Amino acid sequence: MAKWLENPDILIVGAGPSGAIAGALLARKGYSVMTLEKQTFPRFSIGESLLPQCMEFIEEAGMLEAVNNAGLQYKNGAAFRRGDTYTDFDFSEKFTPGWGNTFQVQRAGFDKLLADESAKSGNNIFYEQEIIAVTPDAQQPSAVSRAIDGSEKTVRAKFILDASGFGRVLPRLLNLNKPSEFPVRQAYFTHVMDNIEPSEFDRHKILVSVHPEFKDVWFWLIPFAGGRCSLGVVASQAFLDRYPEDPEIKLRQLVKETPALQHLLRNAEYAMPVRSIVGYAADVTSLYGQGYALLGNAGEFLDPVFSSGVTIAMKSASMAANLLDRQLQGGSVDWQTEYAKPLQAGVNAFRMFVEAWYDGRFQDIIFYQGQSPEIRGMICSILAGYAWDQKNPYVSEPRRLNTLAEICRSN
Ligand code: FAD
Repeated sequence: MAKWLENPDILIVGAGPSGAIAGALLARKGYSVMTLEKQTFPRFSIGESLLPQCMEFIEEAGMLEAVNNAGLQYKNGAAFRRGDTYTDFDFSEKFTPGWGNTFQVQRAGFDKLLADESAKSGNNIFYEQEIIAVTPDAQQPSAVSRAIDGSEKTVRAKFILDASGFGRVLPRLLNLNKPSEFPVRQAYFTHVMDNIEPSEFDRHKILVSVHPEFKDVWFWLIPFAGGRCSLGVVASQAFLDRYPEDPEIKLRQLVKETPALQHLLRNAEYAMPVRSIVGYAADVTSLYGQGYALLGNAGEFLDPVFSSGVTIAMKSASMAANLLDRQLQGGSVDWQTEYAKPLQAGVNAFRMFVEAWYDGRFQDIIFYQGQSPEIRGMICSILAGYAWDQKNPYVSEPRRLNTLAEICRSN
């Protein structure tokens, strides 16, 4: 039973993946933790294809058994299609040691599972509590929460972790928002009962399909357990505005223009109204401040193409929880060199790959048939989420992508 704490050691804003993992880790270390979540769970969220690297953090937070037993769709790789060319990466081929499999998840149930596991570890989670004000302070930062009945309460903690995702609570309240360098892109998505013949689709992999005419327009098809798939398209807002206004007609028309995907989905039934999210790329001037740190999407969000969001969210949760443990025990922590910089090293590796995806370099690399297994293994590591492995030359020197793309293009 969750207990309301006026003075917890740690106050967490939001009970999504980053909040649930950080809360479990800190509660398991013996700290008093309270998480205030604006919505009720289960609730819909986008971000349904996990990467193997995030299994490490699920395990660290003591949630592995629950996640393994949840009947989720097993995932062991990523497949890409452009025109008649198809290529797939099996995570077992990756260069970096570690987990080589994970799951694809409907986030409503998955996020509830993580939050419930976090609560079992001692994280006191309260739903329908929206954080509306925050006062930073090195010793005792505080926050005001508003319940659904309008009543407000102040919580004074030793530290605040902002895990509010796209809510971006501290960036908004403390003026930390910085525009992303990426152009404004938009996604339209839904769930379908896919009715795909088993022989036509490897359900253990996410399928990313490129529009035949526009290489910066792409679709995800993420299979779940039970014959359901998440289907989405990503493009610039200006491009999508050229299509009919009705979201379902828009998505159907774009799928129709992409023959192999249209063929795969020829018997699909749309199982949910088509939704849209726009301008999701975001950045901040700082990932930490007086008595607080930003986790996951509350910090920076790049782009969905490599399914890196939940992995970055969980990585940041693990890093921050371990640093906070030291700090609360009286040790000193340099949040710039020990949190922001190393976290951003991985985010920057993903950034290089995202840029290379949209300008076509990455596509030319993966669709090139003559790639050496060693290089494929290094690329595969990034696709599996191991963007912090400095031993991988494509992490430590991402400019190598340029040379590689040139080689692939000239062959
Ligand atoms: P969230 O999951 O957003 O959780 C934040 C929580 O904070 C929410 O429950 C919210 O209600 C709560 N909150 C917000 N404001 C307040 C407040 N004021 N007070 C209290 N609580 C508050 N990632 C992947 O890993 N794989 C994918 O396939 C993938 N696909 C994506 C596709 C698209 C189109 C987009 C835009 C993103 C995608 N992502 C994907 C990214 C993924 O959605 C996020 O990175 C991930 O959900 C971040 O987790 P989080 O814990 O930081 O935040």
